[in-house]
Amino acid sequence: MNTRQLFRHSRIRLAFWYASVMAFILSLLSIGVYRSLVESKWWAIKQEMESIAGTLHDSLEPMLPTSGNPTQVLKTIFPELCLVNQPCSNNSSLIQRHTIGISDRTTYYLRLFDHHQNLLAFSPHQPSQLSSRLESDSWQIVNLPNGTRYLQFSIMLHSGNSHNQPNHSHPPASWGYLQIGRNLRVFDGEIKQIQLILLMGFPIALTLVAISSWGLSGLAMQPIYESYQQQQQFTANVSHELKTPLTSLLATVEAVNRLENSQENTQTLLNTIERQGRRLSNLITDLLLLTSLEQNSSQKQFQPCCLNDLINDLTEEFLELAVSKNIDLTSDVCDREIYTLGNESELYRLVANLIANALQYTPKSGKVNISLNNNQKKAIIKVQDTGIGISNDQQTRIFERFYRVDSDRNRKTGGTGLGLAIASAIAKKHQASLTVESFVGKGSIFILKINLIN
Ligand code: ADP
Repeated sequence: MNTRQLFRHSRIRLAFWYASVMAFILSLLSIGVYRSLVESKWWAIKQEMESIAGTLHDSLEPMLPTSGNPTQVLKTIFPELCLVNQPCSNNSSLIQRHTIGISDRTTYYLRLFDHHQNLLAFSPHQPSQLSSRLESDSWQIVNLPNGTRYLQFSIMLHSGNSHNQPNHSHPPASWGYLQIGRNLRVFDGEIKQIQLILLMGFPIALTLVAISSWGLSGLAMQPIYESYQQQQQFTANVSHELKTPLTSLLATVEAVNRLENSQENTQTLLNTIERQGRRLSNLITDLLLLTSLEQNSSQKQFQPCCLNDLINDLTEEFLELAVSKNIDLTSDVCDREIYTLGNESELYRLVANLIANALQYTPKSGKVNISLNNNQKKAIIKVQDTGIGISNDQQTRIFERFYRVDSDRNRKTGGTGLGLAIASAIAKKHQASLTVESFVGKGSIFILKINLIN
């Protein structure tokens, strides 16, 4: 499987898992929303029925006699109710009167039972298939063959006069039962509508999730892909860098083998072998250092470092090289001592790289100046030269590993191409910033800003 296929495969898997998890969460959410909607509507219906039944109960109870023919009493109290076994007119507005503003009269019906749970009277709109016996449960759902559902609520009625009797130790006798029924057509319709919305909305949401999963997984894979490509580029660069001195080494060894002539020639060839060997060794040391800097970003072993001493030592160390190249190397270090917290040998290596480059890329009679100063929070080290300079588009790239502005020429100067990459890794570890300002033909300034010690 090539790299592209591998990343595409991983992207598909990532998108699949992302979409699956999202689908699972969406399903749970939809079920939760659906359940709570149904529950709240059901609760509202029950509340409404209880309140209607309560109102009817409170207004009926005082009027109910303790004895006497209940049918006659009901006829007088509710002239619009139909009595069992008697002809019934169909123009009732009783329920409407009691439920004004709540529902239309076809939604509710009312039934009255005696205390033996036999039907006494009913409102004219009650469904005809209902049983004439009262069930024991106060809440009942009735399913009719035509598919219509009714919710029934029954409460006990007491004779109003029984409250006034002197013996309060006995509860008032049951007079009968009042039952309120409600057509669930509207409720069922609303539930069906919610189900429809969820059923249609779910695939749409899932499609959107799948599309966004694909996009997001692409975004997530992008930095990994780039880093993978950088690694590949790095491996290619390392191979290239190692190959050149190795080829040279082998060629020299072959030449030595074939050699029959003077010791002077042998010496020259051995010098070449040594030079290439050192180059290889430097390259490997730099690579190891870079790797360890990138792997270990711990600041545990940081100690206070005096930057004045560091600059003075470095200036002294590079003076000889500067003189040999006829370059004027100066330093400009302020009198007060400036301290930072860090790894001294790493900071030494960082600034040494900058000075070595400045001397490397400045022609004869040029100038290199190293300055140390500070503002309120940071120490500022500047390495300024009057050298060849770096063009704007190259300035961001010179911190990449093995990047060289003029690769052939710079390779010949002996640099590994890792100097600035190492400097920038050290700066990063010290939470410092390393930037460059440069003009082609005029020179460059490398600026390191590092935290002062608290
Ligand atoms: P090298 O080992 O090639 O010097 P570096 O990482 O130290 O590698 O530098 C990368 C490239 O940046 C160099 O090859 C050079 O082209 C450019 N460069 C670095 N410092 C300077 C400078 N002071 N003036 C001009 N060019 C520079």
